[in-house]
Amino acid sequence: EAAEEALLEKLFAWAEPYRRLGVRANADTPLDAQRARAFGAQGIGLCRTEHMFFQEERLPWVRRLILAKTPEEEEEALEKLFAFQKDDFKAILRAMDGLPVTVRLMDPPLHEFLPPLAELEARAKEGDQEALALLERAKALHEVNPMLGFRGVRLLLLRPAIFRMQLKALLEAAQELKEEGLDPRPEVMVPLVADPKEVERARALAEELFQAYGPIPFGTMIETPRAALLAGEIAPLVDFFSFGTNDLTQMAFGLSRDDAGKFLPRYVEEGLFPFDPTERLDEKGVGRLLRLAAEEGRRANPRLKLGLCGEHGGEAGSVQAVAGLLDYTSASPFRILTARLAAAQAGLRALRAQPASS
Ligand code: PEP
Ligand code: MG
Repeated sequence: EAAEEALLEKLFAWAEPYRRLGVRANADTPLDAQRARAFGAQGIGLCRTEHMFFQEERLPWVRRLILAKTPEEEEEALEKLFAFQKDDFKAILRAMDGLPVTVRLMDPPLHEFLPPLAELEARAKEGDQEALALLERAKALHEVNPMLGFRGVRLLLLRPAIFRMQLKALLEAAQELKEEGLDPRPEVMVPLVADPKEVERARALAEELFQAYGPIPFGTMIETPRAALLAGEIAPLVDFFSFGTNDLTQMAFGLSRDDAGKFLPRYVEEGLFPFDPTERLDEKGVGRLLRLAAEEGRRANPRLKLGLCGEHGGEAGSVQAVAGLLDYTSASPFRILTARLAAAQAGLRALRAQPASS
C-alpha cells in the first residue's frame, strides 16, 4: 500500500504542472474543509449555508424565522442563527486559512424547512395553539413546486434581514480570525439569480456591510438559463460567476433534479438522450449556455473570475470540457483528486495541440 501511495504521489507530482484549472471543494463543515484540503483543494468554491440550518437545535429557529409574524419574532430568531453562523464560518475559514472560501447565502427550497402542512393541520385540529398560529403563514408559503419557487436570491431580497445576518456573520468571523493573526479569505455569493436587477439589489445590501467591515469578493451563481443569457449585463456588477450546473441542467432540460431518476435511465437506454445529463455536462445545451455566459461575462468585465460548482464539477469529462474556459472547478471532497487529474490531462492536451513554435 505504501508503494501504491508513493506511485500516486509521483503521478500527481508529474501531472500537476500541466493543470491550469483551479480545483476547489464543495464543503459546508469544518471536517469536509479539512478533508478537501488534504486532497489538495485550493479553497472552497461552494459552501451551501442552508445545510448549516438542518441541525436539530437550529431547525426550530429557522422555522420561526421563516414563519415570523412580527419584527420581534424575526429579530429573536436572527440573533440565535447569527451566533451559530458566526461559529460555523470561523471554523471553516480557520480550516481553509489562506485560501478562498466562497460562502453562498441561503438557498433553501422552503419545503425543506417548513413543517408539512398535513402535520400542522392535524396538530391544530387537536387544539395545539402553536400549530394553529403557524398554520395560516405556512399555508401562505406552501408551494406546489418549491424548486422553482421562493428560493435563493428571491427569499434573500424579500427578507433582507436574512441576507444581512448571514453576511455580517461571515464578515465578523473573518475579522475575528484576522485579529488572531490568521489569513481568512471569504467571498460571498448569491444563488438563483435570473435578472441583473436582483444582483444590483443584492450588491447594494452587501455594500452597506462592506462599508463597516471592508469589502470582500462578491459574486453570483449562474444557474438559470436567463442569467446565462444576460451574463453581459450581470458581469459588471460582480467579481465572479459560479456556474451551478445542477439547476442549469434542470432548467435547460426541463428535468427535475429530484425526480428524473424515475425515468431517465430507461430514457437513456432507449437512446432518447445520448447520456444522463444530470451525471455529466451536456456540452451541446448547458455547455453552450455556459460558454456563452463565460465569454460575454468576460467581455463585459475582464477581471471577472469564473468557476463551476454543480455536481459536474467533479466529473472527469465535464472538468475537461471546461478546463480551457474557466478559472476553477469545485467538487465534493472525495472527487478532488479526480478533478485535479482530469484538469491536468486537459492542460497537457492543450499544450500538445499548440503549434511547436509557440
Ligand atoms: C447547482 O445548482 O448546480 C448548485 C451548485 O447549487 P445547488 O446544488 O445547491 O442548487
Ligand atoms: Mg443551485
